[in-house]
Amino acid sequence: MNTREKILAKSKRLVVKVGSAVITGEDGLSRNVIGNLSAELTRFANQGYEVVLVSSGAIACGRKRLGLPKRPFTLTEKQALAATGQAGLIQTYEEYFTQYGQQVAQILLTRVDLEDRKRYLLARNTLMTLLRWRVIPIINENDTVAVEEIQFGDNDLLSAMVVGLIGADLLICLSDIDALYDKDPRDHPDAKPVRYVEEIDSKIEAMAGKKPGRLGRGGMVSKIRAAKMVTSLGVPMIIAPGREPMILERIFSGEEIGTMFLPARKMTAKKFWIAYHPRPEGALVLDEGAVKALVEKGKSLLPAGIKEVKGVFDKGACVECLDENGRCIAVGLSNFSSEEIQKIKGCHSREICERLGVAVQDEVIHRDNLVLKEEIASYAA
Ligand code: GLU
Repeated sequence: MNTREKILAKSKRLVVKVGSAVITGEDGLSRNVIGNLSAELTRFANQGYEVVLVSSGAIACGRKRLGLPKRPFTLTEKQALAATGQAGLIQTYEEYFTQYGQQVAQILLTRVDLEDRKRYLLARNTLMTLLRWRVIPIINENDTVAVEEIQFGDNDLLSAMVVGLIGADLLICLSDIDALYDKDPRDHPDAKPVRYVEEIDSKIEAMAGKKPGRLGRGGMVSKIRAAKMVTSLGVPMIIAPGREPMILERIFSGEEIGTMFLPARKMTAKKFWIAYHPRPEGALVLDEGAVKALVEKGKSLLPAGIKEVKGVFDKGACVECLDENGRCIAVGLSNFSSEEIQKIKGCHSREICERLGVAVQDEVIHRDNLVLKEEIASYAA
């Protein structure tokens, strides 16, 4: 078995993301594409695969339903379009899946839902229950209420988060672009597809170009970011042409189609959550020694290395670790509130902490709850 076959043989829990440009055409939703996809996913579910579908298309479908011409819409208009279109989108999926005897569920998520660890785990439990019942969840961003998300969120990012949420084995992004090309194929007719990506470095990022896709928000840049996220979790990702019939079967039969991003390091699910979900509520400025201990030695953060506390936060909050120049070097979950850290910062021994009357705990941020900035995928500059 080659690497591709080995990866596919191990992939039983799948997140399949489909972009707006794949499932909508000039006349609104492309019913035959949705029909084919529903049939394919049902066949996979019947074979024992656990499948989660992340589908875009609400805004595009809403615009077509209301008969509005293409133009730049305001944020509120986009939210209203999403509200209109999501109904039609899910109705169309329902129609086809029901025809094939497959139950589906609609899940609309915002980033805020996944920022809070408790809500994150609740969402996870719901999804796991649906999978146990062999229902296919159809997820989209809850655009109607997600004010910020509608501006910079996209479903590539959402699908990468869903991979972490459910512990998926593989992410498949069905796109109108069939693969990653060594140059932007829209500008360079001689561009060649890249079949495997072992490491996402600046060369690969440069290949993505900067242009967004035809309808969706993401484009190749955000697909590369999603790939960086999931591969750091040890999960492979495939970009494949979404309009090709039987595309999933063709992928699983081992055909070299699209681009496969091979899994890289294995970050724990908890660290993945810390890296991409909570919004930092404060910051700790560290001295040079602490920065070195974190970045070079893989150590936890101790009170001794903290020079300054910024912001007001409770125990358990996500905080940024800054070097003396204000550069963020890591994020992590604090074992202490900001008030407590004010008292113990710079302290070298447990005795001093005790003398100050604060609970003694060696680490302010335990290594297991800390992720270095360099490990976090960000958009290429
Ligand atoms: N959530 C948006 C929609 O359904 C699409 C987001 C994206 O294209 O990534 O219309």
